[in-house]
Amino acid sequence: MGMATLVGVANGNTGKRSGRSTRRSAGRTGGKAGKTEKYERGTRSYTMSHIRGKDTTIEVLVRSYLFRQGLRFRKNDKRYPGHPDIVLPKYHVIVFVNGCFWHMHESCGKQTMPKSNVEFWNAKLMRNRERDCRQHRQLLESGWRVIDVWECELGAKTRDERLERLHTQIVDSTEPHIDETNDSRWDALAVQAA
Ligand SMILES: [Zn+2]
Repeated sequence: MGMATLVGVANGNTGKRSGRSTRRSAGRTGGKAGKTEKYERGTRSYTMSHIRGKDTTIEVLVRSYLFRQGLRFRKNDKRYPGHPDIVLPKYHVIVFVNGCFWHMHESCGKQTMPKSNVEFWNAKLMRNRERDCRQHRQLLESGWRVIDVWECELGAKTRDERLERLHTQIVDSTEPHIDETNDSRWDALAVQAA
């Protein structure tokens, strides 16, 4: 838990946000302030806690939205490369919900390199990136449409719009999918998917 206390400082968060809900509750809620989010969004510990295969906040967010829209899917399906977060056989669509740090999202504020162990992180994240790309290619070659949803797209301001677009991307096979991901690593794949 040491990391959780450190990260706020590292990111310059003042913690002011948490003062909002104190509402003279006479100490009863003391210590429970952060219970919905164990870590502040966008911090190292937050993203580190979002490794594929666990039911993380962003995955649950996307899944529950799709479920409410009446879509049915498989979770973390180990039969496919990358154990995709969401598999929709009916539409032949696979959705990955990516943490921006862990999956090295390009041109994204959340994708900042740690200041220590730079070589280690560089190598590790580059391996992740290459693996993502390889797995996407395999899935495309098997005829799946692959959609990436990024953590930063699920922030409060853009979330609704992104989820609606995701729904359209899933149910309407003429919608672009791979080239909508805002990340140049898929450029070559987009050509392939077209
Ligand atoms: Zn991002």
